[in-house]
Amino acid sequence: MKVELKKIFQVMPLFFNALAREAEHKKLTRHIINLNQQNSTQAIINEMSVCLKDILNYRLFAFVIQRENGIDVWLDPRMYRKSLEAVLMEDFQLHTPSAIHYMNHTFHVDEQEQEFNMENLLSYYVNEGVCQAKIYMLPNKDTSSYSEDIIHMLLQSTAIALAKQMNIEQLTNAATIDPLTGCYNRREFESQIKKAVATAKRQNTSLSLFMFDIDHFKKVNDTYGHQAGDTVLKEVAALVQKNIRSNDVIARYGGEEFIGILPATEKRKAMELADRLRQAIEAKTINTDVSPINVTASFGVATITPYYDTTDFSDILDLIEEADSMMYKAKLNGRNTVMPGLLQVCGSSREKTATATGTI
Ligand code: GH3
Ligand code: MG
Ligand code: MG
Repeated sequence: MKVELKKIFQVMPLFFNALAREAEHKKLTRHIINLNQQNSTQAIINEMSVCLKDILNYRLFAFVIQRENGIDVWLDPRMYRKSLEAVLMEDFQLHTPSAIHYMNHTFHVDEQEQEFNMENLLSYYVNEGVCQAKIYMLPNKDTSSYSEDIIHMLLQSTAIALAKQMNIEQLTNAATIDPLTGCYNRREFESQIKKAVATAKRQNTSLSLFMFDIDHFKKVNDTYGHQAGDTVLKEVAALVQKNIRSNDVIARYGGEEFIGILPATEKRKAMELADRLRQAIEAKTINTDVSPINVTASFGVATITPYYDTTDFSDILDLIEEADSMMYKAKLNGRNTVMPGLLQVCGSSREKTATATGTI
């Protein structure tokens, strides 16, 4: 009897261990199913972070996805940028911190660096189709081969879910983004302007459009070549993107012609912004493989005020036509200038007044 009891006590921990592991495997399966149900990169990584904590009591510090022009970083919300930035710069051989794009984090200037011991940090590479990533985590004390197995299973599943999501995002981008400039394409602009006009109507706010066209661009191509012309287009688009608000929309409307949607923006503010953009373009020297190039652009601005009561597409076309004709006037007016446009549709009797008062 004594011997039998002894045997039971010997196998009991194994038995309970097996039970606990079965429970953990069930948890892991549930998390892996959840991973595959997420529909954004960030949500997939959030789920992975929850799973690591839930099963292994590990803390996910950072999840880094390699992109063409830098890295996308998911960072533990308690982390501070400076703690990890040097490690990332070295690991990914980045020359400038501006190549690091934080997915889920905004930083404040007065943030204190949180101390942690780099030696305790575990990192793993993940490579699955389009998804090349590295994760950094802080383990708890138990780093058994069992926890290694769990991590590998979890990483593999995360990588598969991410690769699938990234493929979907690439396809969506291909349909909406102009590949040369990274701006929205004309088709996406048409869908965005409909939404913006509907929102302006609902919120009873003004909505402005600006349109600009690079001056004498044919001459740029003829003088420096098409490739240098492409660089100019890219740089001008990037400059404009940098100088507008995040909820403004910029699209490439045609060859060297761009259009911007400024929600909740009155005519004067839109004209001021357009003139700031015009000055920024004029001031920028664009370095190309051939030669430094300076260009200017002509702007047209049009606004709809809160007093209109219809959102049918003909009004949107009127608005675009107004911005276009103002831009044409800016060309006639000597180029490198902004022409204002005001389109006001009052009640059901649609009354249009267009004013052109010259440069600002
Ligand atoms: P204006 O001041 O009146 O606008 O004169 P412009 O020379 O800019 O206008 P024009 O319409 O005569 O020429 C536009 C040029 O833009 C011609 C076209 O080859 C060029 N272009 C259009 N798309 C691209 C592009 O993607 N890359 C390059 N490099 N050039 C382009
Ligand atoms: Mg032009
Ligand atoms: Mg043009």
